[in-house]
Amino acid sequence: MTEGTPKVVIVGAGFGGLEAAKALARAAATVTVIDRQNHHCFQPLLYQVATAALSPADIAWPIRHILRTQPNATVLMEEVIAVDAQRKCLRTNDGEIAYDYLVIATGATHSYFGHDDWENVAPGLKSIEDGTRIRRSILIGFERAEATSDGAEQNCQLTFVIVGGGATGVEMAGAIAEIARQTLARDFRRIDPRAARIVLIEAGPRLLPTFPPDLSDYVRATLTKAGVEVKTDTMVTRCDNAGVDTSGGRIDACTIIWAAGVVASPAAHWLGVEADRAGRVKVEPDLSLPGHPEIFIVGDTATINDANGRPVPGIAPAAKQMGQYAGRLIVARIAGRTNGKPFRYRHQGDLATIGRRAAVVKFGRLQLKGFVGWIFWSVAHIYFLIGLRYRFLVAFNWLWDYLTFQRGARLITYPPKE
Ligand SMILES: Cc1cc2nc3c(=O)[nH]c(=O)nc-3n(C[C@H](O)[C@H](O)[C@H](O)COP(=O)(O)OP(=O)(O)OC[C@H]3O[C@@H](n4cnc5c(N)ncnc54)[C@H](O)[C@@H]3O)c2cc1C
Repeated sequence: MTEGTPKVVIVGAGFGGLEAAKALARAAATVTVIDRQNHHCFQPLLYQVATAALSPADIAWPIRHILRTQPNATVLMEEVIAVDAQRKCLRTNDGEIAYDYLVIATGATHSYFGHDDWENVAPGLKSIEDGTRIRRSILIGFERAEATSDGAEQNCQLTFVIVGGGATGVEMAGAIAEIARQTLARDFRRIDPRAARIVLIEAGPRLLPTFPPDLSDYVRATLTKAGVEVKTDTMVTRCDNAGVDTSGGRIDACTIIWAAGVVASPAAHWLGVEADRAGRVKVEPDLSLPGHPEIFIVGDTATINDANGRPVPGIAPAAKQMGQYAGRLIVARIAGRTNGKPFRYRHQGDLATIGRRAAVVKFGRLQLKGFVGWIFWSVAHIYFLIGLRYRFLVAFNWLWDYLTFQRGARLITYPPKE
């Protein structure tokens, strides 16, 4: 590349950022992909790491490896801390990086609705580290219950509270029930893991509010049958290291998992622009920042409406579509073409699984539930994994777990005590 070659910088190698980088593969530009992690994480399967069904390396892949065949792409492991839109450069802890085009794809994180101190006792699930931390907490609960003869302590260790009845909360609750009732059922001598109490708390009137009500009812009934206590219309008012206070009373629990809300990365703060309530930057129809046609914001950090006036959801396919659109638009601009078409989101469907044999799927007019839904869910997730090897690995793990009721990744890793 020559001196005047356009410099495209992409911050974040999640679903949106990677898609933007790939769309720029043939561009006459240098593409620098910056991420604070060295890996891309397939977040839809994180709950399986948190519940010991898959190992971290099954669902996370080095960004450098993913982009190894793209000669114009350079990967830097850095954390971006500021953007100077006037000087067209961004700052990391190691210095400044200049750009001609910038794509911000830094995603979102958990929101504790103003109670950030709850994070210490009620971790959310967003990264591989979160997944292994929650896995440790769940498995340690059973170990400590076995080690103590104090009945109240045993009950507390064997109570698992999940806050938030969206897809992640439902998936976590179903998987923990499975661990307690099946995987660990015969592994302990002094406690009966099947007696574990799993409580799923949702502030709204029903689980999975983005699904049709009959599928929400099905999910509730399936979880209840699996032994999960589902509490809807219930607000959590306090979390501490011994349980939660709710509008329906106190629940003593040594493991609390937060799956209740998300807030966008601080891109709005970096750019000094207004954000919506979830911290997302409102973008132009071509996903650019108002007043800055050279800056694009994609994925969970951006907010834009679809053709029906509804906000584009914070899900992986939306981030991928936005990333691809922004990448292609930059290619067109570099080539001197103008792409007049605004970004158009195509919703592909909603999926959530409830355990080893059940899932709900809404795909246009098609609605599936139960085992058929679960097969659909499994195939869809395997299809979207990166690389043939990982598709085989995950498919084999699931088949093995399905046949044996086992979970192969039941490791309590450092630190053993918190
Ligand atoms: C537990 C869980 C389950 C989910 N399940 C589903 C599902 O089943 N189906 C579905 O469609 N969606 C699901 N989602 C949502 C989906 O994962 C997100 O919508 C999607 O990841 C958003 O893509 P993104 O590119 O905007 O951000 P992300 O994929 O989150 O990527 C952001 C990247 O930016 C990097 N980054 C952040 N800040 C900085 C910084 N300052 N400097 C450098 N790098 C930075 C991060 O390390 C990360 O790699 C789930 C999310 C979670 C957390």
